[in-house]
Amino acid sequence: MSTERVYNFSAGPAVLPEEVLKEAAEEMLNYQGSGMSVMEMSHRSKVFDQIIKEAEKDLRELMNIPDNYKVLFLQGGASQQFAMIPMNLMKNKVADYIITGQWAKKAWKEACKFGKANVAASSEDKTFSYIPDCSDLPISEDADYVYICENNTIYGTKYKKLPDTKGKILVADVSSCFLSEPVDVSKYGIIYGGVQKNIGPAGMVIVIIREDLITEDVLPQTPAMLTYKTHADADSLYNTPNCYCIYMCGKVFKWLKKMGGLAAMKERNEKKAKILYDYLDESKMFRGTVVPEDRSLMNVPFVIGDDELEKKFIQESAEAGFANLKGHRTVGGMRASIYNAMPMEGVEALVKFMKEFESKNS
Ligand SMILES: *Cc1c(COP(=O)(O)O)cnc(C)c1O
Repeated sequence: MSTERVYNFSAGPAVLPEEVLKEAAEEMLNYQGSGMSVMEMSHRSKVFDQIIKEAEKDLRELMNIPDNYKVLFLQGGASQQFAMIPMNLMKNKVADYIITGQWAKKAWKEACKFGKANVAASSEDKTFSYIPDCSDLPISEDADYVYICENNTIYGTKYKKLPDTKGKILVADVSSCFLSEPVDVSKYGIIYGGVQKNIGPAGMVIVIIREDLITEDVLPQTPAMLTYKTHADADSLYNTPNCYCIYMCGKVFKWLKKMGGLAAMKERNEKKAKILYDYLDESKMFRGTVVPEDRSLMNVPFVIGDDELEKKFIQESAEAGFANLKGHRTVGGMRASIYNAMPMEGVEALVKFMKEFESKNS
């Protein structure tokens, strides 16, 4: 058993800022003089009320969320939104989906249960290694919304420009790029993400939704728990929320503010990703799998193209303290997820290890 922390390149649940974990540890038995852990406290208590309100306030500040948007802290992860979105938004029972990977495809499949979900574009022809041109898509006249997965966790692509939705509502899954750079929330109807990639522990999704999309006019038989209005009216406290997760996310928001906010994070993330991409471009052994113009700053898949050597690399890197570098089973090879909380030194150390591996094995 190792007593040291490793560099954790997992795609999710993923690395959290060490500072935040230490703070949570200090507060574990007695949160700010309340005499109990946040895990033990009522979600209706004054102490928790302050935790959730402050988390929302900090998130609003970080993302510059306009007043006509609600912030919801919900359960069911990102996957539950795959159903909740059509159930709440498909008034005409038509929506357009852009398929850029497995998560978008899963969302599309779920929407097919509720109405006519069209595929407006797809990059499946080349194993999702690029983002399709979305400047002039065949958007349906009567589409209730256009759906994208903005950063494709498995394939390592990211939209550098949002699609032209021709006036339709844009809905985006930002699970794996949440808070990695500034966004203009006003361009979206719904922007949502599971928090276990770039924000906090697993089991929660944050939904930022424009107020006019929160209505009682949902598909028949939509359960109360899957209706946005239920949660919006109750300020995310309709049922017992994931209190501890909200508390941890709140701490990460404060950490991000201290780091200088999202513009500073973007600069840092670009620097960090460049170290790895530059090496992948010059290496004779490793290569990235994504077209350069659509590369994600958060998830970096790469291959050697030799099963034995890849196995060896994954094993030896794990032994050297670089955890979870094995690629997704549908892409193979390796993937380094370098979220906000991955320090620069982690990426520098990984590249150094890769260089040594290359020179020893070629
Ligand atoms: C991980 C992930 C999901 C699924 O998240 P869950 O919280 O497990 O449901 C959905 N979309 C994207 C982009 C992801 O990275």
